[in-house]
Amino acid sequence: MAGRCRECGAVYSAWILADGTVEPIGKKGGCRCGASNFETLSQ
Ligand SMILES: [Zn+2]
Repeated sequence: MAGRCRECGAVYSAWILADGTVEPIGKKGGCRCGASNFETLSQ
């Protein structure tokens, strides 16, 4: 699965957590822009 930052549009490989949260792999602090809200990308 991939996740895209809602703020800057950066795309990361991501996990989808049980509660629906999108968490970028290896990016515990969130996006490089500082945002932590992601949306899933269907591939
Ligand atoms: Zn971002």
